[in-house]
Amino acid sequence: MPKKRRNRGRNLKNSGHEKTVQCYKCHRLVPADKAIKVTVWTSPIQGSVAKDLEKKGAYVSKRLETRYYCISCAIFYGIVSPRKEEERKVRSPLQRPLTGRRTSSKVPLKFLKI
Ligand SMILES: [Zn+2]
Repeated sequence: MPKKRRNRGRNLKNSGHEKTVQCYKCHRLVPADKAIKVTVWTSPIQGSVAKDLEKKGAYVSKRLETRYYCISCAIFYGIVSPRKEEERKVRSPLQRPLTGRRTSSKVPLKFLKI
């Protein structure tokens, strides 16, 4: 039977079983190697209010939150998108475009504060 993907949409590297994680949106239990992992900085205060407070000099706390999405939700919310059949066969890792200060500034990398 032909397979759609070589790894069947999973990252199960000879481990046999992976722990399950809960989808952030629909609370479905998904194997951790199949789920889409996204880390975002979140604040308990909403965006516009937090910006106003920061302008006034207040410290707004932030924390790094790890979210897992099931494949259905990740596609629905635009986190990942399905690729064409030929593109799925490409084995090279996906390249992320360079953004931020590194591309825009002409300061050598060793002088930048990361
Ligand atoms: Zn979901």
